[in-house]
Amino acid sequence: MSLDTQTQSISEARTRILSEIGGEVTLVAASKRQSDDRIDAALETGQRVFGENRVQEAQSRWTERLEAVEGLELRLIGPLQTNKAEDAVRLFQVIETLDREKLLKALIKAVDKTGAAPPDLLIQVNTGDEPQKGGVSVEGLGTLLSAARDTYPGRVTGLMCIPPAEEPAAPHFALLKKLADQYELETVSMGMSSDYALAARLGATHVRVGTALFGARDY
Ligand SMILES: *Cc1c(COP(=O)(O)O)cnc(C)c1O
Repeated sequence: MSLDTQTQSISEARTRILSEIGGEVTLVAASKRQSDDRIDAALETGQRVFGENRVQEAQSRWTERLEAVEGLELRLIGPLQTNKAEDAVRLFQVIETLDREKLLKALIKAVDKTGAAPPDLLIQVNTGDEPQKGGVSVEGLGTLLSAARDTYPGRVTGLMCIPPAEEPAAPHFALLKKLADQYELETVSMGMSSDYALAARLGATHVRVGTALFGARDY
């Protein structure tokens, strides 16, 4: 597709998604495994908030674009290994996937060592208790949140979840929103291509949308 056609199709999808989620909810463009053409097309439509799953992929995609484009916000939405913490705090304005004290400590050390502005943190909650998935358990959330609030030099602003693929998402969304209210956290990141409108109705402040915005991933 030419960039013009590409831009038009992403622009139409974006307009539709924005109207479905309403003006209060932020569309995070989940850009993993999308081509450079599509990234540039999304930028052309005015999209500025992007979610990335992997630190290395994000570095190669965004390092130059960060210099060239005003107002970009990069959010890490994939799992983070402690040995990538320094690269992550240098690149991302928001890290959505804090899920353990060891990672919290690594992030604090990384901010200290790099002198980077501390990214805002969200805690990922494993609402479906899935062993293979990242996220702190609902029972462990209070302890991790207290530790983060007591020791992190930046802001701890909210919660994020990825419901189990094979279950209805609504109860997970409702639970995450309830937890955010209970702990007085303003940001609620939930909802993807198949259920962003539902998530928005159930209290999401941020929806993370990939394929419904860009089209099927490249690989
Ligand atoms: C890939 C991804 C998304 C977007 O997925 P789509 O189904 O393409 O919208 C959202 N959140 C996370 C954490 C992801 O890894």
